[in-house]
Amino acid sequence: MNLKPEPLAFELSSPGRVGVALPKRDVPAVPVPEALLRDELKLPELDELTVVRHFTRLSQKNYSIDTEFYPLGSCTMKYNPKANEAAAALPGWKGSHPLASDRCNQGSIELIWKLQESLKAIGGFEAVSLQPAAGAHGELAGVFMIRAYHLSRGDSRRVKMLIPDSAHGTNPASCTMAGLTTVTIPSDADGGVDMAALKAACDDTVAGIMITNPSTLGLFERNIEAIARIVHEAGGLVYGDGANMNALTGVLRPADVGIDVMHFNLHKTFSTPHGGGGPGVGMVGAGKALAAFLPGPIAGRKGEAYAMEVPERTIGRMKAFYGNFGVLVRAYTYIRMLGAEGLRRVAESAVLNANYLKARLEKAYPVKYPRRCMHEFVAMGNFADGVHTLDIAKRMIDYGFHPPTIYFPLIVPEALMIEPTETESKETLDGFVEAMLKIAEEARTSPELLREAPHATPVGRLDEVAAARCPVLCYRG
Ligand SMILES: *Cc1c(COP(=O)(O)O)cnc(C)c1O
Repeated sequence: MNLKPEPLAFELSSPGRVGVALPKRDVPAVPVPEALLRDELKLPELDELTVVRHFTRLSQKNYSIDTEFYPLGSCTMKYNPKANEAAAALPGWKGSHPLASDRCNQGSIELIWKLQESLKAIGGFEAVSLQPAAGAHGELAGVFMIRAYHLSRGDSRRVKMLIPDSAHGTNPASCTMAGLTTVTIPSDADGGVDMAALKAACDDTVAGIMITNPSTLGLFERNIEAIARIVHEAGGLVYGDGANMNALTGVLRPADVGIDVMHFNLHKTFSTPHGGGGPGVGMVGAGKALAAFLPGPIAGRKGEAYAMEVPERTIGRMKAFYGNFGVLVRAYTYIRMLGAEGLRRVAESAVLNANYLKARLEKAYPVKYPRRCMHEFVAMGNFADGVHTLDIAKRMIDYGFHPPTIYFPLIVPEALMIEPTETESKETLDGFVEAMLKIAEEARTSPELLREAPHATPVGRLDEVAAARCPVLCYRG
């Protein structure tokens, strides 16, 4: 690997060098308005080959699932089959116009409808909406739906949303954005929801609970049915954060254990490349009580014809047109290729891979809640000589691995949240284990090696606080 930092495109600039040849003008010349002409931009002047080499070199410094193992907990960075991409790139999908009538878009609406039907079956839902563009967006839709439900019954006192302390940060954020107040429920010694605290928090001001199962600790919430019963008895509803459905597809239908409304991250479990803010879909599914409140329109079918229809008491639109349609094509392709059997095997293999890693690593990296995990587990990277999880993570980069999620969930000190996913081979998992064990050994024998890592990258350890507080977002030549 070339360890020099790349020069910026601006630094390669040479006055007068040109990289494009514009076609001959075939319309009358019109002067550009003075106000739009700016001298101070100092745009780089480069030839085509320099630009190609510059960006190709930069792209080779990228880390990706298509090049290496990516055990980033909670994010489900699994391999996305290329067949999904081929399907999404079919000219009929790519070229369909968002303003075309439902009659012209029958094929697109049929795909949406069929995907809705599959996801209803997987979750046990009454109806689903594919509008939201991300998990967090689905959460927001779900909390809006819960609020609208209570208000529709004339109950305006329900302003509290219960959220376990292991929850993803998007849960309290969505809840607050939807105008409700969050109440944190602690975890018990076993990593589950503390049932006594839950009961104590349940009164007639509770709108509902947001619960993640398996939790962000990678643990199955064994009391899920009792939790749903207690919240329902208090008049509240149950929101399920389905970001971890990779552990449950084909094994458990969330609606069967009392979930009223839930999001699935189609870009995680149902396989669309994500990260870096790319397009996603946070499907929301609902049971009987909330189906009429779903964001719309959603696809409907009458005989052989398909149409976009607005649910009766919809909270409204969450996204323009059909949402992120390309992601829907990928999810549909993925589900149809695997079938029900395949989806179940995905969950079983994801859980098996995580338990394999956990079993091989837990002596060197203790696990706070050591019971059998689901598709991920949370270990701890706390060593003597001031070596911390951050140092372990940075050292992993030297070994060619993307670090796991670190310092989350917040209730585990020095957390290392490891999610192998189902798509990795035993050889890859073993390579990862060997690197982790070597690093644990280095933590004892040469801690400075870890504290100064990474050593094998163009730039060393970054000042992450300064990068967040005073970001430099443009070239200051
Ligand atoms: C990823 C994730 C979310 C948020 O999903 P986005 O699509 O990133 O908005 C919410 N909860 C959990 C547990 C997650 O892992």
